[in-house]
Amino acid sequence: MPGATEISRDLKPFKIGIVPCNGEEICAGSVTRFACRKVLDELRKGKTVTICLPLFIAGDKGEQQFASRFPTITVDGCDKRCSAISTERLSGKPSYSIVVTDLLKDKGLTLSESPRVLSETDKQAVDIIAEEIAKKVDELLGEAGDA
Ligand code: SF4
Repeated sequence: MPGATEISRDLKPFKIGIVPCNGEEICAGSVTRFACRKVLDELRKGKTVTICLPLFIAGDKGEQQFASRFPTITVDGCDKRCSAISTERLSGKPSYSIVVTDLLKDKGLTLSESPRVLSETDKQAVDIIAEEIAKKVDELLGEAGDA
């Protein structure tokens, strides 16, 4: 995950900021982080960047300026919406907010109980979440997906 210095070198208006929550305690948090990495590293590589949520909350100016200057998609594991709330409080309203448990409920998927070992269904959930994030990236960039 790039830090503030790396982000400041990489500031370009055609990139979208992906802000995952840091849920470690439940499976929904784990699949959130895996899905965001899939978007960043594969599906929309080069068009997305991420920021460090704990550093952002700690008040790092580079992280907070990034989220206020560029469109952001927050991705939260559950309806506590830690990332969306933090982003809105500290930087500005996210362009789009995804709550993974709501998305998966709509798709009829139930996650396993384990935050450490992903089941086949959990892996399927990662793909679904990643595709949803990628779709929103394309919408914000005003283009059809070409990845
Ligand atoms: S949104 Fe839910 S899963 Fe994510 S960090 Fe907050 S409480 Fe944990």
